[in-house]
Amino acid sequence: MSQNSTNTAGDKKKSALDILKNYSGPEVRIMEVCGTHTHEIFRLGIRKILPKNIRLISGPGCPVCVTPVIFIDEALLLALEHGCTICTFGDLVRVPGTSSSLQKARGEGAKVQVVYSPADAVDYAAAHPQEQVVFLSVGFETTTPSVCLAVQSAQEKGVENFSVLTANKTMPGAYEAMKDSTDLYLYPGHVHAIVGTGICEELAARGVSGVCAGFTAAELVTALAVAVTKFEKGEPFFVNCYPRVVRPQGQPAAVRLVDSMMEPCDSEWRGIGEIPLSGMKLRDSYAQFDARIKFNLPKVEGKSNPACRCGEVLQGKCLPSDCKVFGKVCTPEHPIGACMVSGEGACSAFYLYGGE
Ligand code: SF4
Repeated sequence: MSQNSTNTAGDKKKSALDILKNYSGPEVRIMEVCGTHTHEIFRLGIRKILPKNIRLISGPGCPVCVTPVIFIDEALLLALEHGCTICTFGDLVRVPGTSSSLQKARGEGAKVQVVYSPADAVDYAAAHPQEQVVFLSVGFETTTPSVCLAVQSAQEKGVENFSVLTANKTMPGAYEAMKDSTDLYLYPGHVHAIVGTGICEELAARGVSGVCAGFTAAELVTALAVAVTKFEKGEPFFVNCYPRVVRPQGQPAAVRLVDSMMEPCDSEWRGIGEIPLSGMKLRDSYAQFDARIKFNLPKVEGKSNPACRCGEVLQGKCLPSDCKVFGKVCTPEHPIGACMVSGEGACSAFYLYGGE
C-alpha cells in the first residue's frame, strides 16, 4: 500500500485524506498511545480535518507523564538525604513530586545533572568517583535497551558509584488496561520497532483493534484512514502501516539484552494506578546497580496535586481543557502535572496548539 492512498471497493483509489474527511461511518475513538503521535497530529493540523465522528484520544505513551509521584519522591530522597548526584533527562527535573521537584531541590543543594543518554551518566560517574551517581531510568521498550547497555558498560569498566532508579514500563499491560477507553489503538511505531507486532496480532485475535503508525504526515494520515476503513467493516483488525521500520519480529537482539538483565514487575502509572507486570527492574544479578537496593530506600507513599487530572487525561476520560487549572494555574512555564511538563504530554500539546 502506498503511504497516502488506500484501496476501496471497486479498485478505485481514494486519497487517505479524502477517506478521513468524508468518513461517515459510526463514531470511532482512536487512542494515539504515543506522546510523539499526539504532538505530531496537533502540529500537522490533522485534528482540524477530521469529522466529528472520528475522536482522537491521547493515551499513556509519554514516559514522563506516566512516571509516578513516588518516583520523583524517591529521587528527592536520594538527592537530599543520601547526597547522590541525580543524572536525568531534562523533562523530569520539573515534574512535581508530592511536595517538591528536582528543580526546587537544586535550590536546597541537590546535585542534579541533565544528561542526554544513560551512557552519559556512566561517563559522569567514571569522571566523578567521589560522587554516588544515580540515573533516573524512565521510558518504554524503546529506551530500556540503552539503560541495560549503560549498566553493562558500568560493570565492565568497574564504575561502582553508578546505579539506576528504574521506572521503566512496558506497553502490553497498558493496552489491556486502556482497552475499554478506546475503539482502536494507533500503536506507537518506536515501541513496536523493538518488540515487533506479535502483541498487536494477539490483541486483534482477542477483539482489540489497532494500526501501527509512523510519524510523518503521510504515515499518520494513511494509518488513520486504514483504521477507520477497517473499523467500519466491524471486525477486529491489526494492520502494520509502518512497515519500513516495524518488522513482525522487532529487534530480537534488543529484546534478548533486556530479558537477560531485567525482569517484569508491577508498576505504578501516574494517575492511573498500579498495572500488574507493566514495569521492568534489574535482575538480582545486577542488584549492585539498583539504587533502591543500594541505598535501602523505604517504601514511599506519594500524593499528587488533587487539582491535577493527568490520570483521566492519560486514560482519555477527559480533555486537558476540562481540567480547571489548565492554561490558568497550570502552564508549561508553571506545570502542576507531568502532562504539562513533557514535550510529549497531552496537556502541553493542547496548550501549544490551541486545543481542539
Ligand atoms: S492541565 Fe495541568 S493540572 Fe490539569 S491535568 Fe493537565 S497537567 Fe494536570
